Amino acid sequence: MTYETIIGLEVHVELKTNSKIFCGCSTQFGAPPNTNVCPVCTGQPGTLPVLNRQAVELALRAATALNCHINQDCKFDRKNYFYPDLPKGYQISQYDQPVGEHGYLEILVGGETKRIGITRVHLEEDAGKSMHASDGSHTLVDYNRTGVPLIEIVSEADMRSPEEARLYLEGIKAIMQYCDISDCKMEEGSLRCDANVSIRPVGQTEFNPKAELKNMNSFRNVQRGLEYEVERQTEVYEDGGTVDQETRRFDEASQTTLPMRSKEEAHDYRYFPEPDLVRVSVDDAWLERVRAEMPELPAKKRQRYVAELGLPEYDAGVLTADAGVARYFEGVIAAGSDAKTASNWIMGDLLGYLNNKGLAIGDAPMTPIQLAGLIAEVASGNISIKQAREVFKIMCETGKDAAVIIKEEGMEQISDEGALISIIDEVIQNNPKSVADYKGGKEKALGALVGQTMKATKGQANPAVVNKLILERINHV
Ligand SMILES: [Zn+2]
Repeated sequence: MTYETIIGLEVHVELKTNSKIFCGCSTQFGAPPNTNVCPVCTGQPGTLPVLNRQAVELALRAATALNCHINQDCKFDRKNYFYPDLPKGYQISQYDQPVGEHGYLEILVGGETKRIGITRVHLEEDAGKSMHASDGSHTLVDYNRTGVPLIEIVSEADMRSPEEARLYLEGIKAIMQYCDISDCKMEEGSLRCDANVSIRPVGQTEFNPKAELKNMNSFRNVQRGLEYEVERQTEVYEDGGTVDQETRRFDEASQTTLPMRSKEEAHDYRYFPEPDLVRVSVDDAWLERVRAEMPELPAKKRQRYVAELGLPEYDAGVLTADAGVARYFEGVIAAGSDAKTASNWIMGDLLGYLNNKGLAIGDAPMTPIQLAGLIAEVASGNISIKQAREVFKIMCETGKDAAVIIKEEGMEQISDEGALISIIDEVIQNNPKSVADYKGGKEKALGALVGQTMKATKGQANPAVVNKLILERINHV
């Protein structure tokens, strides 16, 4: 039997506001436990929430970027459940009237554009963080995160493979960063992803029970967790069993998923309208300003890089996947570099270096202007591409400009014909066989002569000039 995979994602994104959604506490990550708290976010009796306007602004920006219909009149609801990290005993969220609905995000799968539906984008407050003692004796709770503004982005069950899920998630992250909505650091929990996954025999129209996967804290783990889960469900069906609707946790150590609890239904939460907050009204002027201030989004930028800069689709995809990388690239070409050459350096050497060191583009060891400087040294023939790689490495270590390194290392290419001609004459004299071979029609013999000259100059001769001079010499002898 062949099965079809059905995946929908729920992505939580922490909004980049200075203060929490319903009080003035700081949202700063990494503060000592329980220092960014107050009576409101710890749910003390008699306190009242006050909505942070900037959180609504960022949610509007996200919903707009995800092509949603904006509910200009929306409201908050209470989602009731008991858990130690939720001091109020309920979470303020949005139930039936979210900020945005019916949107979509386009992903590029195997060269084809695929549209993934966005069911809704809603605002809510984050919960605190439980830390369980490794011996199981006790649990500590940090309420610093309680009340940090979040948006939850719920997709339609439109993804058909773990790879599509990863591409969708990367697309969401890119948009959030381009629009300055969130820093999307999965390792700090500012981007979190739950996945609903089920499989069904090809041709079946109704959905089978789904598993909700949690605790996937990297893009790679999202794909791995889903791959494992698809395999597991396939085996269950092939053994004649049934898949339970349940919540499962991805276990990084074993690369498997483990059952957590049976999944709650919406009615278990007893949603009702939040009585402590008035409805949110977004007037036309506000919405129009948000729309007008939208930056160029990744898909548009990718198309522009192909159409206007002549970059291959692949390059455009890599460079625009991260807002920081796109900004860096644009900095390099603004400093005068050719687009394709800049793209090669960034995708190859720079991103390779950063990945190796586990660094982000913001930690790049050189500025875009410095990289443009290195590219210019090659373009002018001052150094060879091979030498440029060497200079690049030294730039990474020292942060010095390419021109300074080239001088210090004595790397300048010898392009001066006068300086090269005596060396070339010697090479020709010492390699009569190669000269004869070339004259006899063996084109390859020329390469041997160029190679000898490069060796004699310790690689510093400009190969193009050497080539030209050797031909001139041979043809005149
Ligand atoms: Zn507070």
